[in-house]
Amino acid sequence: MAKATKKKQEGYFRSKELACKCGCNTIEFDLGFLATLNAIREECGFPFAISSAYRCPLHPIEARKEALGAHAYGKAVDVLCSGEKALEVIRVAQAHGIKRIGIKQTGGGRFIHLDVCTEEDGFPSPALWSY
Ligand SMILES: [Zn+2]
Repeated sequence: MAKATKKKQEGYFRSKELACKCGCNTIEFDLGFLATLNAIREECGFPFAISSAYRCPLHPIEARKEALGAHAYGKAVDVLCSGEKALEVIRVAQAHGIKRIGIKQTGGGRFIHLDVCTEEDGFPSPALWSY
C-alpha cells in the first residue's frame, strides 16, 4: 500500500469550499465524488480553486432553474482554471471516469465544471456543454 501523505488523507478541500454559498453553509457533498475529486487534484498537481460545489435548492442559481442541477445533488464542482490547466483538468477528470463536463472559457471567471450525475439522476451522461 502506498504511503499516503497527511494532506492526501485529509483531502485537499475544506468544508467551507464545498458548502453552499447562498448563506446557509449547508454541505451535502457526495463522498464518493469527493474521493474522485481528491484523486483528480492529486494527479493534476496544482491547486484547485473551487468557485461552486454544493448548492442547496434555495441558492439563487438553483432556485431559478426548472429542475435542480447537479450542484444541488452534491455531485458537481466548478474549478476555476483556464488554458493549459483547464485542459489538464479535463484530461485527468476523464481518466478518472468523469463523463459530464461543462466548459466556461471566455471572459472572466473561467472554469471547468465536473459532475458525476447519471441518467438515473435524470441527467444525460456522457455530456459536454459550454456556458
Ligand atoms: Zn444554500
